[in-house]
Amino acid sequence: MRETLTLLERMPFPPIRRGRLDTLQLNVGYRCNQSCVHCHVDASPHRTEEMGADVADLALTFLERQKIATLDITGGAPELNPQFRRLVTRACALGVHVMDRCNLTILEEPGQDDLAQFLATKQVEVVASMPCYLKDNVDRQRGKGVFEQSIRGLQALNALGYGLDGSGLVLNLVYNPQGPSLPPPQAALEADYKRELGRYGIVFNHLFTLANMPIKRFGSMLAIKGEFDRYLGVLRAAHADANLANVMCRNLISVDWRGYVYDCDFNQMLDLPLAHGGRPRVHLADLLDADLSDNPIRVAGHCYGCTAGQGSSCGGALAAAE
Ligand code: SF4
Ligand code: SF4
Repeated sequence: MRETLTLLERMPFPPIRRGRLDTLQLNVGYRCNQSCVHCHVDASPHRTEEMGADVADLALTFLERQKIATLDITGGAPELNPQFRRLVTRACALGVHVMDRCNLTILEEPGQDDLAQFLATKQVEVVASMPCYLKDNVDRQRGKGVFEQSIRGLQALNALGYGLDGSGLVLNLVYNPQGPSLPPPQAALEADYKRELGRYGIVFNHLFTLANMPIKRFGSMLAIKGEFDRYLGVLRAAHADANLANVMCRNLISVDWRGYVYDCDFNQMLDLPLAHGGRPRVHLADLLDADLSDNPIRVAGHCYGCTAGQGSSCGGALAAAE
């Protein structure tokens, strides 16, 4: 795979600092039942990195000690980690809002037959990848048969009440473009998704549009095809200063499977650790009583992926469309 960090670090980005921490994002491992072309994690069924019980326990202590409102669990396919259900159960018992970044096909993996029911029982917010409402586009990006599996997954979640008004079970979808271009305006695309997925009887709450990050598998693919600079130019030309106030790294920390801390999941993938206390690497155990407000954020050229156009965060666009 082609390394892209040196290219990204050469590109200046406006300095930004942290606000109040409200979300702990745990990347519980890089194993996934899929290996999508655009994956910024480089996840696949062959990855073995996995968060163990000790780091999961530390994360729970951190949630309680720092009174964190939201636990955002990602991967890979986070549900494959044996700690996943314990983390969810204990975080819910602490009154923490839990989000599961779910690829939908995991719901049909062996041993996961009761996953959807588990998520519903714990009132976990499901944030599901669905890069298009057209079969060919989804299968091209995520693998053959993924569209149909995703449709069945969404129908199974709907059958439990997910996405239905008044159920309290939130189902949000995530769109990312097929290639090196900016996502279209979020509100218009959400309306298209609601209409097209409605043909399968599917309902959901919101669509989040995210730009593809020029890192890991997608960044490497761009570099190999000679499209890296052009894509960075597109992101940079569309940068909006107003988005700087709302980028997710202001209020979130990302923790890897070993317990090391980053400003966001993208920095985790680039191995750009959180800068704090003069340490080369910061572990979650070092932050149990820390106040990260006003801490400088490690930025580089990939950050334009968060500030281009309407902006991108783990909660979708940052600004309303013009
Ligand atoms: S994009 Fe998501 S579903 Fe696809 S390989 Fe990466 S982690 Fe797995
Ligand atoms: S990639 Fe986005 S979330 Fe991460 S540090 Fe840059 S601006 Fe913040």
